[in-house]
Amino acid sequence: MYSLSQQVLRTDITGMPLEWIGFKEAVRAYHLGQVAYTCGVLLYTVRGGYNAISGKRSVVEVNSIVATLGDTHALLKAREHYVPPLSNSALFARDAHLCMYCGGRFPAGELSRDHIKPLSMGGTDTWNNVVSACRRCNNHKAGQTPEQAGLELLAVPFVPTHAEYVFLQGKRVLADQMEFLLAHFPRTSPLHQRLAKTMAA
Ligand SMILES: [Zn+2]
Repeated sequence: MYSLSQQVLRTDITGMPLEWIGFKEAVRAYHLGQVAYTCGVLLYTVRGGYNAISGKRSVVEVNSIVATLGDTHALLKAREHYVPPLSNSALFARDAHLCMYCGGRFPAGELSRDHIKPLSMGGTDTWNNVVSACRRCNNHKAGQTPEQAGLELLAVPFVPTHAEYVFLQGKRVLADQMEFLLAHFPRTSPLHQRLAKTMAA
């Protein structure tokens, strides 16, 4: 059995990944009859209150992937121009916690958000202009472009799709959730390669 802190992947009825939810939210969805179907492994069994008429105690079995009814924002997010919000944690996850200049792997606390074209030169704070960089490389680069600092980018930054973004936000992604999300990544997603490297490492 899994700990109750294990997150549940919520999808819409078509199986489009939406977000991570905690066990309380998952149980609520079951009680409200919003769960259309489930996939993945059984995570935990949650015991609820007693039914006033039958005297029976409710038991909810929560799976790792739960498809819920009545969501329309999945369609909006699936649109090609959807841009997920930029955050350091999602950025570092996108770059597999590697410094995109020296290639070293660092814990989140030692990484920073580097603006490839510095903000002082009119660069934007957007997915396509930011990479993870270690402090040393970031200090060395300072207010310069990579060329000016004599640095070379190891990979081209990209804007995650919604499914990729959901994955990047996951705290402890289980194998079946991972497989489910991977199936929703674009074929050309750089994450396929980065994840293969991470798993091999
Ligand atoms: Zn570095």
